Amino acid sequence: MKQSNLSDILTHLGEERERYFNAVAPPVIQTSNFMFDNVDDFRNKLSDELGHHIYTRGNNPTVQILRRKIAALESAEDALVVGSGAAAVAMSVIGNVQAGDHVVCVQAPYSWTHALLTKFLARFGVSHTFVDAKSTDEIAAAIQPNTRVLYLESPNSKTFELQDLAACAALAREHGIVSIIDNSHCSPIFQRPIEHGIDIVVHSATKYLNGHSDVVVGVICSTKKMIQKLFESEMMTLGGTISPHDAALVIRGLRTLPLRIQRSHDSAVELVRRLEKHPKVAEVYFPFSPNFPQYELAQKQMSGAGGLFSIRLKVKDMEQVEQFCNGLERFLLAVSWGGYESLVLPMCGLYNIEGRENPDLPWDFIRFYIGLEDVERLWEDILHGLEKLE
Ligand SMILES: *Cc1c(COP(=O)(O)O)cnc(C)c1O
Repeated sequence: MKQSNLSDILTHLGEERERYFNAVAPPVIQTSNFMFDNVDDFRNKLSDELGHHIYTRGNNPTVQILRRKIAALESAEDALVVGSGAAAVAMSVIGNVQAGDHVVCVQAPYSWTHALLTKFLARFGVSHTFVDAKSTDEIAAAIQPNTRVLYLESPNSKTFELQDLAACAALAREHGIVSIIDNSHCSPIFQRPIEHGIDIVVHSATKYLNGHSDVVVGVICSTKKMIQKLFESEMMTLGGTISPHDAALVIRGLRTLPLRIQRSHDSAVELVRRLEKHPKVAEVYFPFSPNFPQYELAQKQMSGAGGLFSIRLKVKDMEQVEQFCNGLERFLLAVSWGGYESLVLPMCGLYNIEGRENPDLPWDFIRFYIGLEDVERLWEDILHGLEKLE
């Protein structure tokens, strides 16, 4: 996307300043309800609920500004903004299956996407197959006559496996299957799957799109026809709406999206370069490292990788991993990512929890998210921790 288009979208698209006192920032239209001029107006508007302001579960003017910007960023005809990324994932899948259908899904999707297929949709007679989707042939082999959805996440947010988006889109099209991708990792700044032929793009906008760790929000981008269908059914019946106030916060966050994600990316590149050379680091996972197994594909379909990377430490026991993580002073120990603050998520924190299975990833595996802080401050902190490991 041309830089000039991007600035127009982020600064102007969807905003009608002359309608609200020439205010530069859009108003928060904090209302549940809208009145009609007369009965005829009532009738007209009800014929197209998504296109008019009737009730905020459906359409609200503040939310509508955000919808237009997000759709344009993803080269989509239209978008819905919903209450969380999980709602966006669930609504886009549920809207395209019925009892007896089958979903082909990447092997290690986001944890609640996994739960949607294995626990939730299984109750309604929708089956699934998880595939190693690094290979388009494995995806093709998993397609059954009743497959309706191909669900992708490229890269995923811990080990960053990619799918060839153009090849997946072509395969889905050939079989009459709806392709859906979770594009949270790249954001539309670094990857626009609809331009590769993918049908639906979903995001946890909680991450980069909002970027300030103060709102939980999701988006769904697709054709006008698909968005209309999801709106009339999943949006209006499941009611996973977002508040106008939260929408205004996300609009505010979007203004700086390209700056934030680039900074996050640049710092991650620098830290990965240094970590790859450190004797206490056994392995580094980062899609834009020349050592990454799918580096070439990453270069082909992404224009950046953002601030997530993972490492494996060379240590004797889990206690040393805990000591390393507990000793970090500039990284917050937390889930999630995409905000201004740097985070660390150690797999060992998911081991030995009563009532939970241990994760598939090893206990010496640590995911980092690099925020907007000074990269040298962050490096000092990591280096200090590594040097303390015997
Ligand atoms: C966080 C996340 C989600 C879920 O989003 P919420 O906004 O937390 O509901 C979905 N996919 C990915 C890749 C995520 O990181």
